[in-house]
Amino acid sequence: MMTVCEKKRCTKCGQWHQLDMFERRIVRGRSYLHSHCKPCRKAYFRAEYRPGRRKYRNLDDRYYTLPHGERAASAKLTAHDVRLIRGLLADGLSCVVIAGKFEVAASTVWAIREGMTWSRTA
Ligand SMILES: [Zn+2]
Repeated sequence: MMTVCEKKRCTKCGQWHQLDMFERRIVRGRSYLHSHCKPCRKAYFRAEYRPGRRKYRNLDDRYYTLPHGERAASAKLTAHDVRLIRGLLADGLSCVVIAGKFEVAASTVWAIREGMTWSRTA
């Protein structure tokens, strides 16, 4: 039986700590001590876990700083094309016909009509 006086070496920082400096975890009914000490675990979560969450929360920020419209590397259309396409859509032309004129996929024209792309081009 282990006593509280026993020590265990942390595989992260390499220091010997009291056993109560390690978190317990239960695996298949058996109790194990974590191989990283509590301070190391805390440091790990501060360094890896929390910034990860922050990055996730700010995905919108990243989106708004990405090049969009003509400056997007994948753009086939110009803002001028998009205005023309909107005009043709307003005239009642189908997405497929317009797509053929501009050599883009019909879904591209559909996305413009639905406001899913080029939403920031007036
Ligand atoms: Zn440690």
